[in-house]
Amino acid sequence: MAPEAVIETQNSEPHHGTTLIDPGGRDLGAATILVVDDLHGNRVLLKQALEASGFENIVMAESAQDAFLLMGLSGRKRASRKIDLVLMDITMPKVDGIEACRRINGSPEHSNIPIIMVSALNEVGTLEDAFLAGAVDYIAKPINQIELNVRVRSALALKLAMDERNTREIEFERREKELLEVTRLLEETNERLRHLSTLDGLTGIPNRRRIMEFLDQEWRRSQRDGSWLSILMIDVDYFKHYNDTLGHQAGDDCLWLVANCLKRCLNRASDMVGRYGGEEFIAVLPETPRDGAINVAHEMRAGVQALNIEHPDSGAAQVVTISLGVAACQPNSDMTSAKLVSMADQALFEAKRRGRNRFTDASTARTLENQDCDLMGANAPNTAPAR
Ligand SMILES: [Mg+2]
Repeated sequence: MAPEAVIETQNSEPHHGTTLIDPGGRDLGAATILVVDDLHGNRVLLKQALEASGFENIVMAESAQDAFLLMGLSGRKRASRKIDLVLMDITMPKVDGIEACRRINGSPEHSNIPIIMVSALNEVGTLEDAFLAGAVDYIAKPINQIELNVRVRSALALKLAMDERNTREIEFERREKELLEVTRLLEETNERLRHLSTLDGLTGIPNRRRIMEFLDQEWRRSQRDGSWLSILMIDVDYFKHYNDTLGHQAGDDCLWLVANCLKRCLNRASDMVGRYGGEEFIAVLPETPRDGAINVAHEMRAGVQALNIEHPDSGAAQVVTISLGVAACQPNSDMTSAKLVSMADQALFEAKRRGRNRFTDASTARTLENQDCDLMGANAPNTAPAR
């Protein structure tokens, strides 16, 4: 059969390099073009015409099935070439160009490849079918060299620009994911650091900053709710003597044991005890009235004594003991949390003054001795006690 695609060669001078660079700097000449035509003569003519226009990579298929195989659309093989543009004959035996176009366009991996239909047929019905099947353009035979060049260039420029955009989008998504992951790790690290920065390094219980933050927060909540708030100021009796006699390592161990004993004495998840400084601790008991706070103070005093940590130089007992000051209130406009702390501190001072290993309630300033406390403090000196 004689070739149908007779080329009208108004300008068949081969193009050189730079003429196929599009305004976006893309080299259209390096793109791969697949020519599908059942007639050998047509394929050769189209190849020659494209090469004359400067396109370097022309692949040919003599049927739709051949084209599918080559593009990896059928069979198990992957595409042997990455195709950037298809020039598709319409009239072919078995699978015609329109059906082939529909198959290629229906494949998600191939639907981005532009297809230009090439045919002598110019019936409106065929053209409509071709565009409905996904063709982007149409070239009539006999082929006009300039028209071929212009249409191929324009389809390729669009295709390569879309490819670039897709690549950028994929890269953008990848970077976005990376950024999200980095942000998540950073937040995790910050959370860990924040947690660490709220704990006292020696005892593992909340540090002064954290416990005072907690007091402020609970103070405001009590003000809103009109609920009770109690605090306990706690001090280890004769701790300086303990350190001086047994050394700082033993002192540190002692503080750890006392701190964790105090923590165990808290009844509710909402209670908190923190290290106030040195051998001093503070417990904040939200929604706890005076009686509840006194119960906790009692348990803490008894609990620390029951640890049975030998104290060779205590004026209060044979073992390590604590003194406590209790202060409770329903926050109102006349009160501040600092005032409550000061009241608890004064009560603690009073407990020290009265002989230690006991607690004093700030409201009554009475010493509440315990049955299991054998130092009644009746003869305690009326001077500032050594802590
Ligand atoms: Mg044909």
